[in-house]
Amino acid sequence: MKLRVVVLGAGFAGLELSTTLSEALSDSLDLTLIDKSDSFFFGFSKLDVMFGRKTPDAVRFAYSSIDKPGVRFRQETITDIDPERRVVTTDRGTYDGDVLVVALGADYDFEATPGLREGGNEFYSFAGAERLREVLPTFGKGRAIVGVTSTPFKCPPAPSEAVLLLHDYLSARGVRAACEISLVMPFGTPIPPSPAASRALLSVFAERGITFVPNRFVRALDPRRRVVILDDASEIHYDLFLGIPKHRVPDVVAASGMTEEGWIPVDSKTLKTRFPGVYAVGDVASVGTPLAGVFSEGAAKVVAAELIANVKGGEQPLPYSGRGSCYAEFGQGKVGRIDVDFLSGPEPTGSFEGPSDALMIDKQSFGSSRRKRWFGQ
Ligand SMILES: Cc1cc2nc3c(=O)[nH]c(=O)nc-3n(C[C@H](O)[C@H](O)[C@H](O)COP(=O)(O)OP(=O)(O)OC[C@H]3O[C@@H](n4cnc5c(N)ncnc54)[C@H](O)[C@@H]3O)c2cc1C
Repeated sequence: MKLRVVVLGAGFAGLELSTTLSEALSDSLDLTLIDKSDSFFFGFSKLDVMFGRKTPDAVRFAYSSIDKPGVRFRQETITDIDPERRVVTTDRGTYDGDVLVVALGADYDFEATPGLREGGNEFYSFAGAERLREVLPTFGKGRAIVGVTSTPFKCPPAPSEAVLLLHDYLSARGVRAACEISLVMPFGTPIPPSPAASRALLSVFAERGITFVPNRFVRALDPRRRVVILDDASEIHYDLFLGIPKHRVPDVVAASGMTEEGWIPVDSKTLKTRFPGVYAVGDVASVGTPLAGVFSEGAAKVVAAELIANVKGGEQPLPYSGRGSCYAEFGQGKVGRIDVDFLSGPEPTGSFEGPSDALMIDKQSFGSSRRKRWFGQ
């Protein structure tokens, strides 16, 4: 008897889960991996694309190159999830399995921030990052604001990375002196679980003339008056706005009845939902870790280990630890690393390795090792 698994979403979580199960179970696995897209890209590639460091084609990896024993990829859009019966409907057919793993990530609600579409830009969707390739070259003077509109949001260091890379980008074009850069964040420091990383970021912001606006959300934009309106009703003039839009689960997940307070609740140790045989991993689940690929991948490994143990009769895995390392670009070709542990103790803890050239190489091999493991290239 083969283990029949349906994996919904081929992002960090879905790819890692499918790869690990295929490696361990091969012939005893019958896994269908479904994604509406034809290709995968790393979240951090959006920064490369928006600042023109790489072309959109260079950062995409085609799902058609997935060739793993026991795994079949289907490019289809999921239109319905029935967690009670473990049945998934797509625009092309119906799938069921012994196990269902929901790994559909987080979507964006652009309309939740009035004025964002008409008067601003965002770099969290691939399309938004591609649009910015055209917009950024037209900005040469005035105030640029990078602003967070709600929590949670993917990759908490990304807004800080964006202002530092914007500083480099404008400096390289010789227009930095004519521009101001501000970062509006809902926290008191850039990365609260790591005071050392936050101190390092605040120090480079000060060095490079970047204004940090703490403990504030951007609630709306008024494109006519060119102001952003913050949650305390104060206003800041802008000439260029780069937003982090409100995040939410994909519509099909919201309609499935699996969510509570906007996200899928899971047992944080096992990633099990309240529906037997149904797991939720990655950004779509509320597990207490940040929305980041490394955490999606870590959660997927725990689910894979349990399924493998069930088939092979080995020991059950250790509970999910919520540990992960995030790389943060500090600009000027340097990268820092934040190692965080969210679930082992009563409070999240983090350590920090300061920015260096060596960590830039580490970050590149983080990407290339996954590319090889998931896509064989
Ligand atoms: C600017 C930026 C920088 C980032 N940098 C980092 C970083 O340095 N390190 C890091 O770890 N993380 C980073 N992230 C975060 C990271 O990209 C996400 O947290 C990660 O991709 C989440 O993985 P996931 O598998 O949970 O979901 P996703 O990777 O989002 O995958 C979900 C998949 O589900 C598919 N899907 C959704 N709805 C449907 C449907 N109805 N039918 C079929 N398929 C569907 C989507 O196409 C997608 O492929 C960054 C994010 C951004 C925006």
